[in-house]
Amino acid sequence: HRPGGNKQIKPSLMQEHLEATGGKVVTRFPPEPNGYLHIGHAKSINVNFGYAKAHDGICYLRYDDTNPEAEKEEYFVKIREAVEWLGYTPYKITYSSDYFGRLFDLAVELIKRDKAYVCHCTGEQIHAHRGGDEKGPRTACEHRTRPISESLEEFTKMRDGFYGEGEATLRMKMNLEDGNPQFWDLIAYRVLDTPHHRTGSQWRIYPTYDYTHCLVDSFENITHSMCTLEFRQSRESYYWLCDALEVYKPVQWEFGRLDITNTVLSKRKLLKLVEGGYVDGWDDPRLYTLPAIRRRGVPPEAVNAFAREVGVTTAKSTTEVSKLDYHVRSLLNERARRIMAVLQPVRVVITNLPEDHCVEVTVPNIPRKPEAGEHTIPFTKYLWIDADDFKETATPGYFRLAPGKSVGLLHANVVITCTNVKKDEATGRVVEVECVMETESPRKPKAFIQWVADSPAHASPVRAARVNIYNNLFMHSNPQDKSAVPGGWMTDINPNSLDIYEGALVETGFRDLLNDWHANQPKDRDLWMETCHFQFVRIGFFCLDKHTRLSTGADGKPQLDELVINRIVGLKEDTGK
Ligand code: ATP
Ligand code: MG
Ligand code: MG
Repeated sequence: HRPGGNKQIKPSLMQEHLEATGGKVVTRFPPEPNGYLHIGHAKSINVNFGYAKAHDGICYLRYDDTNPEAEKEEYFVKIREAVEWLGYTPYKITYSSDYFGRLFDLAVELIKRDKAYVCHCTGEQIHAHRGGDEKGPRTACEHRTRPISESLEEFTKMRDGFYGEGEATLRMKMNLEDGNPQFWDLIAYRVLDTPHHRTGSQWRIYPTYDYTHCLVDSFENITHSMCTLEFRQSRESYYWLCDALEVYKPVQWEFGRLDITNTVLSKRKLLKLVEGGYVDGWDDPRLYTLPAIRRRGVPPEAVNAFAREVGVTTAKSTTEVSKLDYHVRSLLNERARRIMAVLQPVRVVITNLPEDHCVEVTVPNIPRKPEAGEHTIPFTKYLWIDADDFKETATPGYFRLAPGKSVGLLHANVVITCTNVKKDEATGRVVEVECVMETESPRKPKAFIQWVADSPAHASPVRAARVNIYNNLFMHSNPQDKSAVPGGWMTDINPNSLDIYEGALVETGFRDLLNDWHANQPKDRDLWMETCHFQFVRIGFFCLDKHTRLSTGADGKPQLDELVINRIVGLKEDTGK
């Protein structure tokens, strides 16, 4: 960064700018509050806040709220929360609407400089004047050459509500000869009857993105206006307007936008999914909005690490979603306490143990990390194992439990052999698997499985109302690719994007985890839940979902009224099988 590095600018303007900033880097993250932020925005946040931070500068969070039809209070709040969640503190929170008065005055100035005119063409007429679908020659409309005084009068009438929507616009008088469409007399103001979230019904006309963005950057003394590559052509119109008004001109830099596989990110598309009821709101954990990723239990550090990793490439490519999973796993591997759980419980009884058998088994909370402590669980005659770990008929290469086969029980240092299977006569379903515990020091088994003890006297497992296992929301890696998905992206929604397990059982050590977490962690309920990560051994990393109902027990400790658990990510890369 070179302060004053913008050579294309009048020395006096640069002088003023340097006085305002003290030569510091000033950036901004400028979302439009028309939806939730998504993982692509996390890249922009990291670029803008990160660049400022690296250069001891400042970064604004600026709501680009010039389109009242699409904006809602909820979006403003969720955007700020998402920025903070990623660990960034805006220097100031501003709104494009803060500057509506100043923007209006500059529009008047632009007309006076003969660089803008009020136009009454319809959208179709403007399109035709710009060469139409055939991309033919461009022609000026009759309003372009109207006298300055007439445009000034008409613009005042626009402001005062004389015109309805579509009846008048203010257009910048640019250069129709130029090959860049961003010079074809862009619209600066349009009439909108919608009241604004912040300015109410004070304004009947609203400035466009093309008019507003560069001017507000200028007002805020932004040094580096960073945006995605599709704004490359807008760079010239951005500079054109600053020069036309002779105001301080920031430098625009473009970077590659981030897209990821098997999902859609655009807020307009996300809104369709939310409004159509395809997902459980903007924060459904299958989406890649920042609140969804947060609800799913992904630590913000993983999102930042991912954003930084993809940040180095400017190529416009789609990033594999598994790259994010990699960062999630490597963080949670260090943090998540190991817990045994069975998603589809099958009852096991160890026939050669006494009824009240109970041995305390010690389990390290995190392997190879003694400072994370350990916890104990009971090993009893009655257990639950996962249906996936039992087969009525063993197949070659199958090393878990089956009649006549042995398997190891993790942590318990026990090997059991299946001796009999009890079935429900009516349904044919396996209701209980009878096993014996090997007492002679047995051969080391080929496989160890997780288990959950269940003894009336010593251990009652924690019952989960629901465990949510999320899969890709879209079947194709690029659902927007018309050749792969001729029916359009909405037809590519994966009917199996959510597997729900009801009645999963979790070891008693889970209660200790909740109590410890409760004692040591912030009181904010949502934060507490999302950061209460754990690994279900052999299944994946999990966290509590927001639908979990907790109350405070008589002992002041959290009591689970309804336990809803999200799988954050599996233990290994999903190969799509
Ligand atoms: P969308 O089209 O997905 O709704 P947008 O581009 O309209 O997003 P804005 O709220 O206008 O979103 O964007 C705020 C900032 O975030 C802009 O500077 C924009 O360039 C950047 N941004 C938006 N999407 C991405 C993305 N996928 N990758 C990187 N930066 C992005
Ligand atoms: Mg937008
Ligand atoms: Mg967009």
